[in-house]
Amino acid sequence: MERDADILIVGGGLNGPALGLALAQAGLRVVVADARPAPARAEAGFDGRAYALAIASQRLLAGIGVWPRLAGQVQPILQIKASDGRPGQGPAPFFLTFDAAEIEEGPMGFMAEDRHLYAAFLAAMADAPGLTLLSGEVVTAQEVEAAGITATLASGRRLRVAVVLGCDGRGSGTATRAGIRRQGWGYGQTALVTAVQHARDHQGIAQQFFMPSGPLAILPLPGGHHSSIVWSETDAAAAAIQSLDDAGYLAALRPRFGEFLGEISLAGARFTYPLSLSLAERFVAPRVALVGDAAHGVHPIAGQGLNLGLRDVGALAQVLVEAARRGEDIGALDVLERYERWRRFDSTALALGMDTVNRLFSNDNPLLRAGRDLGLGLVNALPGLRRGFIRQAAGLTGELPRLLAGRPL
Ligand SMILES: Cc1cc2nc3c(=O)[nH]c(=O)nc-3n(C[C@H](O)[C@H](O)[C@H](O)COP(=O)(O)OP(=O)(O)OC[C@H]3O[C@@H](n4cnc5c(N)ncnc54)[C@H](O)[C@@H]3O)c2cc1C
Repeated sequence: MERDADILIVGGGLNGPALGLALAQAGLRVVVADARPAPARAEAGFDGRAYALAIASQRLLAGIGVWPRLAGQVQPILQIKASDGRPGQGPAPFFLTFDAAEIEEGPMGFMAEDRHLYAAFLAAMADAPGLTLLSGEVVTAQEVEAAGITATLASGRRLRVAVVLGCDGRGSGTATRAGIRRQGWGYGQTALVTAVQHARDHQGIAQQFFMPSGPLAILPLPGGHHSSIVWSETDAAAAAIQSLDDAGYLAALRPRFGEFLGEISLAGARFTYPLSLSLAERFVAPRVALVGDAAHGVHPIAGQGLNLGLRDVGALAQVLVEAARRGEDIGALDVLERYERWRRFDSTALALGMDTVNRLFSNDNPLLRAGRDLGLGLVNALPGLRRGFIRQAAGLTGELPRLLAGRPL
């Protein structure tokens, strides 16, 4: 069968471009189709959405040539502090501190804004021979044949490839068309996301306050005086807070945020994201594989969504490139199942782990509160255990794909 390319990636969010770059740089011919017009996201104003990239993710971004394009736009995370809290009362006396000095790899991770990350991906894709980006193109159908798979775009264009990789997010049409079902549930929580400016320097410290209604993460951005916040509340409370004017919003935020960074003001538009868990029942089907949020959408409680996706990217790129080098059919189910075996347990375990942490911390039950304070204090007192958590947060545990270990594919 004559093919238009080796691989079609559906979705040009963040995981799609990362996977496209890794595969194209290894010599495969890749088309990335994204429903959105490309410049829209890169040109958007500062929208407060930012990612905590684990060290392992940073290595992958370096390996595919994206990291150098982010020079001056990332903030190293030097410390992570987690504590129990109640609005107006400040953090509880027991807290957990993770310090970058406790691991030899350097900072635990880096904060990067979505628009900068996306712009860096766009620039890297423009320079990648073997990669074609189709912006504003929606994939509407896919038809599996013996020797390949044909996808149809809304424009009527048809593309024949060996394998279709669904990087099309939580509502993945690629998964639905392949007959892959999803499981999941809403949390009854919504994340309020924005950026704040503060009088004192954050010194590279990321804070996570566990409030009864949901966690508040305060994440340091470049320059010292801006932070991104991910503030989870019950759906009703979030809707009420979002409907306030900026002064009312700040008045609601202040007692939760506390005074440790001095006076705060809003520094970006205000967004809301309903929180849910969404797991695909399988990550692969004949000539189809799912990556990132298309495979697993998790609670943002530990900022792990994109990091998990980039682990998928590293694993799938490695499996496909090794198969291609051996002369195997890269769309064959047994090849794709190697990827599923590698990634499914890790991502499901993490998704359910985040779910449990959220349930354990998002309440005001005095017994649970005492227990979790003790737990946080205990972990903090045991350096070995603490280092284990730090390595986990930095993405340095488990069987790392080569790109995440800092090695070439
Ligand atoms: C409030 C919040 C904070 C977060 N904070 C963090 C954090 O700190 N760290 C972290 O690691 N993660 C974080 N995450 C998670 C992270 O945002 C996601 O895991 C990540 O963006 C998913 O990327 P993706 O490329 O898989 O999917 P998406 O970004 O959803 O991209 C999917 C793309 O597919 C396209 N598409 C869909 N259907 C089609 C089609 N039929 N044809 C063509 N294109 C199609 C869409 O247009 C879109 O561009 C956070 C999430 C939320 C909600």
